[in-house]
Amino acid sequence: MTTTFAKLWAETFRYAAERSPFYCELFRGVSSVPPLQQLPLTDKQIVSGRNLDFLCVPRERVVEIVTTSGTTGQPLLWMLTEADLHRLAQNERLSFECVGLTARATVLVAVAMDRCFMAGLAYWLGLRELGCAVVRTGAASPLLVLEMISRAQPTVIVAVPSFLRVIAEKARETGFDLSNCSVKKAVCIGEPVRGQALSLNAPGRVIETAWGARVYSTYGVTELSNSLCECDAGAGGHLHHEQLHIEILDDNGRPVAGGEIGEIVATTFGVEAMPLIRYRTGDCAALFHAACPCGRATPRLGPIVGRKNQKLKFKGTSLFPSMLVSVLEEAQGVEAFVIIARSESELSDSVEVLVHGDAPESVLREALQARVKIAPRIRHAPLSEIEALQMPPQTRKRRMFVDLR
Ligand SMILES: [Zn+2]
Repeated sequence: MTTTFAKLWAETFRYAAERSPFYCELFRGVSSVPPLQQLPLTDKQIVSGRNLDFLCVPRERVVEIVTTSGTTGQPLLWMLTEADLHRLAQNERLSFECVGLTARATVLVAVAMDRCFMAGLAYWLGLRELGCAVVRTGAASPLLVLEMISRAQPTVIVAVPSFLRVIAEKARETGFDLSNCSVKKAVCIGEPVRGQALSLNAPGRVIETAWGARVYSTYGVTELSNSLCECDAGAGGHLHHEQLHIEILDDNGRPVAGGEIGEIVATTFGVEAMPLIRYRTGDCAALFHAACPCGRATPRLGPIVGRKNQKLKFKGTSLFPSMLVSVLEEAQGVEAFVIIARSESELSDSVEVLVHGDAPESVLREALQARVKIAPRIRHAPLSEIEALQMPPQTRKRRMFVDLR
């Protein structure tokens, strides 16, 4: 594997240094291949400022143009050549093989194929590589998904967890027996279904129960044209190291120990149009190196605990809002909640939790103290106040964390 890495890294470095206007400039004067860890990091802001300077091929070689999700700032334009689409298909094939899919599977893809997203296209390409039958309902209509489950009898669904819950709700309303339907595996994208200890979180458990299906988590980044998907062990997404190198770095850019949480920094291998070297994803997770029970020896990426810029500093501890969210989601007597962070000082943020429901404040404070070692201010609030904070005007996605720092 070390030889493979050395070879892939040398190829990537030489290619980017020669073809990419951005890397050509960055690596000017560097003659031999330097150790990867010595090179500077790039991030979304840098790439955004010089987006097309990352393109290594003439425009006529580009066959697909997508945009990134744009959760932070303006979405990036991302271009792929024919070879990149092939690489994308191979990546998704490997990921779906982790889930145990074969040509016998019928897979309902409840993910948008349009709107410039890469994900739906990537799944479709990977499933074609495997020879699966694909049903592309998209994510617009839960009723269409239910209808196609009845008629096409898919064995697997690929969707965002919150959409799986919307479909389950629609099934309940319409008397559709989802827990006994043909779908036995649910590949979940974009939102975590596991907590830090790798066990299913509250949304993950709700989905498994409602669907009577096994949940698999997958993590993908458009700029990396790559996804990492769990196997049956449910112990993190397998890295396909011939396509991607991952480092987990602390706030000072130093590598953390295996199993420790830090920022995911990635280098792509084999990308023709827009390769990236030491790209800071902004997402935080841990990488596990121990062999997986499934027999694969590749490292596994744990659940995404949050965005690096969401990290809270609270009385000497640092933690992610998602850790508070998972405790509150599981607490009895909490109907709705929202976590608000404000800046208190250089060293500490103030954290307040607004809760609707009959759970006593003292019980919630104790639960948070026990599970995440912090006791923020907790205040009961009317549902309307919480909902207004969760979904301010112009937003489409409910948020559990409001950052006022
Ligand atoms: Zn495994």
